[in-house]
Amino acid sequence: SSLEDTLISAIRNIPDYPKPGIMFRDITTLLGNARAYRRAIDELVHPYAGSKIDKIAGIEARGFILGGAMAHQLSSGFIPIRKKGKLPHETVRVAYSLEYGLDEMEMHKDAVVPGEKVILVDDLIATGGTAEGAVKLLRQMGADIVAACFVIDLPELGGRAKLEALDVPVRTLVAFE
Ligand code: IMP
Repeated sequence: SSLEDTLISAIRNIPDYPKPGIMFRDITTLLGNARAYRRAIDELVHPYAGSKIDKIAGIEARGFILGGAMAHQLSSGFIPIRKKGKLPHETVRVAYSLEYGLDEMEMHKDAVVPGEKVILVDDLIATGGTAEGAVKLLRQMGADIVAACFVIDLPELGGRAKLEALDVPVRTLVAFE
């Protein structure tokens, strides 16, 4: 489709970053392209136009840039999900798996009121470990996760299937093998 073409051509591919053999998908070029950025946000939010979404939860850091724009468009609040040690008030914390080892992420305990409808967003889903951690935090505080949205899917790494197994509907805009 022309939307897919617009987005794919706006994403920069960086071979061997951050290490040899990895093709990094860089959305800073998409964010810097006014038309592509608007089209990506419009496409991410359009299924939810007219429904009440209480909050968008963005995963640090690129999920903030997408999630802030989505929240504005849907008239929703915004929740930052951050690497450990960055949030100033009481938090819930979860360990999540990275390619090598574990890291931890946090959310403020009072960021969600139980029952609130929340959409999770990040730039890219690979193994799904990061998004799974965010789902655990949100559900621990009683969020009703309506969907998890990503601009980019790497389907071979299985992240979508991992979230769907947790009953989280997944929405992605473009896929790379
Ligand atoms: P996962 O936890 O394996 O699904 O990895 C997804 C997380 O790693 C997200 O927070 C992404 O922003 C980041 N990530 C992994 N690969 C890439 C990439 O090629 N481009 C941009 N971000 C990436």
